[in-house]
Amino acid sequence: MPETTVAQSLVPQTQHTQYEASQSTALPIYHRGALFDREPYWQKIARWSDVSEKEFLSYRWQISRNIQGPRNLSVFLNEVLPENIPANKHYQHIRTKGAFIEDVMQGIKEAPMSIRLTPHILSVIDWSNPLNDPLRRQFIPMKSTYMPDHPKLGLDSLHEAADSPVTGLVHRYPDKVLFLATSVCGLYCRFCTRSYAVGGNTDTVTKSSYKPIKARWDQALQYISDNEVIQDVVVSGGDSYYLQPDQLRYIGDRLLAIPHIRRFRLATKGLCVTPSRTLDPEDAWTDELVRLSNRGRALGKQVALHTHFNHPQEITWVTREAAQKLFQNGVVVRNQSVLLRGVNDNVQTMSALIRELADSNIQPYYVYQCDMVQGIEDLRTPLQTILDLECQIRGSIAGFLMPSFVVDLPGGGGKRLAASYQSYDRKTGVSKFVAPAVKGTVKGRDKENLVYEYYDPLAFCGL
Ligand code: SF4
Repeated sequence: MPETTVAQSLVPQTQHTQYEASQSTALPIYHRGALFDREPYWQKIARWSDVSEKEFLSYRWQISRNIQGPRNLSVFLNEVLPENIPANKHYQHIRTKGAFIEDVMQGIKEAPMSIRLTPHILSVIDWSNPLNDPLRRQFIPMKSTYMPDHPKLGLDSLHEAADSPVTGLVHRYPDKVLFLATSVCGLYCRFCTRSYAVGGNTDTVTKSSYKPIKARWDQALQYISDNEVIQDVVVSGGDSYYLQPDQLRYIGDRLLAIPHIRRFRLATKGLCVTPSRTLDPEDAWTDELVRLSNRGRALGKQVALHTHFNHPQEITWVTREAAQKLFQNGVVVRNQSVLLRGVNDNVQTMSALIRELADSNIQPYYVYQCDMVQGIEDLRTPLQTILDLECQIRGSIAGFLMPSFVVDLPGGGGKRLAASYQSYDRKTGVSKFVAPAVKGTVKGRDKENLVYEYYDPLAFCGL
């Protein structure tokens, strides 16, 4: 197919035969019922069958029950899986619990991210049908779903290290920096953009971690203080939810004290994977967030929370109550989703997610094309999928609740609307973008004059 114009790209495409034929899963399962009806949904997990609501909502209880590493995951899977796994036409050889666990253990050996899962997420995965579950696909790798990497994939596909004047501080846009305060998360996503740094070492990746220590933070804060052009800071990692409340206070107060900082946001998956922390009266993280938000408001500065939900199945009554607490306390919350194959790459799921977020007063902000990260080719979609989703969903919900569907340009061009490509050759799977506002150089060439290329997954390219 020849390259198309932007206008042509907005016409719904129907040439997804190859894509649909290779879908590894059926449509995601969308649970409701117990997840929304204030029922103890965690009690269906045998080891937590007598855990009370009070215990489950305790952050201390949650972090002490995390499942970490292949060995603990294997024990957990042995407890929760049925003896016979429901058939999936793509994985005929996986029909028993033993075969499933063996496939997962082999998958972990090739994965770029280590294993860490929270009780909340483990409680909302449908273990009676693990091959098809969209949350299992996000967090637990399988050898059988592994697909060869496109040769252009990398561990640091956004070239963050190259754009870091100080270790753990990415300065790409003129007025904004990304401050990587830690490389620890409460749960590890298979597709993490920062798989070069986040989480523990794996069999295939040795990480360059960002320790949550003041000496390193002070260097980053000094750079921000010295550069008056910077107005906007994203505090991320890793996950800012896993900073201690006093660490959050230290960073937040330092940022608010810098006259030229107009706003900052805390990037976290915490509200998605451990929402109970926000409700726990014995934990001070949310109190600190609310204090910073109020202090910022008094100074005329915005402090916001940016979270990361990818599927409506991640949202339970606990999530809704946590979001409501933040809303009542005036905290601005926005969501950034990642488009993932077999997880949320259909109109029904993405629409439901956007609506659930909107109903929880979480602003649907971005849907990202999955970054070109090594080792997760089975989760990436062609660019055409995000174009189609944007086309189909726009108009179904108020415009101010419609997220921007974007590509974070490989090589450090920053985020661009997916539909803003200069060209898209569907035969080779190469789309090209420009980013004239992004400053800096790559190998001596000005970024503003570069052409950035996104590559569809190998299975959809004519290579
Ligand atoms: S929570 Fe964010 S930083 Fe942590 S593993 Fe997932 S995508 Fe990466």
